[in-house]
Amino acid sequence: MKWEGRRKSTNVNDQRGQFSSGRRVALGGGGIGIVGIVIYLLVSMLGGGGGNLGDILSDAVINQPAQQQSQQQGTYTETAQEKELMAFLSVALADIEDTWGKILPASQYKTAYKEPQMTIYTGAINTACGAADSGVGPFYCPGDHTIYLDLSFYNTLTQKYGAKEGDFAMVYVVAHEAGHHVQTLLGVTQQLNALRQRVAQGTMSQTEFNRYSVAFELQADYLAGVVARYMQDRGYLERGDLSEAMSAAAVVGDDAIQKRYQGYVDPDTFNHGTSAQRQEWFKRGFEAGDLSQWDTFQGL
Ligand SMILES: [Zn+2]
Repeated sequence: MKWEGRRKSTNVNDQRGQFSSGRRVALGGGGIGIVGIVIYLLVSMLGGGGGNLGDILSDAVINQPAQQQSQQQGTYTETAQEKELMAFLSVALADIEDTWGKILPASQYKTAYKEPQMTIYTGAINTACGAADSGVGPFYCPGDHTIYLDLSFYNTLTQKYGAKEGDFAMVYVVAHEAGHHVQTLLGVTQQLNALRQRVAQGTMSQTEFNRYSVAFELQADYLAGVVARYMQDRGYLERGDLSEAMSAAAVVGDDAIQKRYQGYVDPDTFNHGTSAQRQEWFKRGFEAGDLSQWDTFQGL
């Protein structure tokens, strides 16, 4: 991605180095909630109880607010890699703002775009959706319209999960989370939560809900594709960027994650979609370049 010398978003909040002074929020699984833990957090926030990730992520993350965070600003020393990640993700967020600032008002929904915030943290963080440990992976909190990201996720993605190295893997991740923001502005997030409430009330099965969850997540992948297209049209993409995004989408597919962590695949428990589906919807968003083909819920 060509980012040097370009506009950086002013909506990036650097909260690195503000370590939780008490015990860390306990989480099992270490990074299972990759890209889109939003549902889990949202459901828990609204009292939906244990969600479909409950067997992997401890409910404790929501029920125990993080300890008072000690203010140690300025003590964090970033690596050269983190410095570059910070710089180009700030430019990528600016591109995301430009994309949706242009597309949403012109879409069939004629909605003004309200820019999200992006908080970069290390370790643990308090959010309007509860306390989170960076082990949950990047996520978006609808309650405070903020994307939360620990930059170490880049190494998780590329080294632990084997995604192709390159800046655009992270652009895909941030654009996916920003997609959840678009879904919130357009009311899709609220509709999904209403369905989750039905599960709590016993009028919808968890398995059926999971299909809606997959559609919701694939829609965020589609929206990430729309952002990539916007950048392509302006000449910001470099050779290899799209394949980096596709590779990242593949390693966070439910089938890939389940094979990695439990050794077998159980489609009834999917909540983000398979590697192939995630790539496919990113591609569809890229090809459409707008909201015309974004209905991933069709046929459900
Ligand atoms: Zn997501």
